Amino acid sequence: MPDCIFCKIINREIPSQVVYEDEELLAFKDIHPVAPVHVLAIPKKHVVSVNDLADEDAEVVGKIFLVIKELASQLGIAETGYRVVTNSGEDGGQEVGHLHFHLIGGKPLGRKIG
Ligand code: AMP
Ligand code: ZN
Repeated sequence: MPDCIFCKIINREIPSQVVYEDEELLAFKDIHPVAPVHVLAIPKKHVVSVNDLADEDAEVVGKIFLVIKELASQLGIAETGYRVVTNSGEDGGQEVGHLHFHLIGGKPLGRKIG
């Protein structure tokens, strides 16, 4: 995809700290972590945002959540708790136009979500 930073991470054109990879998914550490644990889980298929999901993407989105569940356990935050966030579009504060799910934890995050 033209100039997509996350596609470049998938293709190893940009370095990242990968914490999970399979044929369809990649998870890597956020470069500007907002908490002790801050990982981004993405489909390898270039989908811009939730708006752009097709019926055929249902399985991969489900798998992303299972990977997030596994990572939360591996990274030691399954018991203490965490937040999973996906930002869409301008009002959602989306900066990178490749669907991604933030897994954030390792400190109390409070109740504010907007
Ligand atoms: P969003 O605002 O939801 O689009 O989030 C984009 C996230 O991507 C931000 O948390 C950035 O810190 C993160 N990010 C941007 N570039 C990189 C990169 N090269 N490696 C890892 N994370 C990145
Ligand atoms: Zn992309």
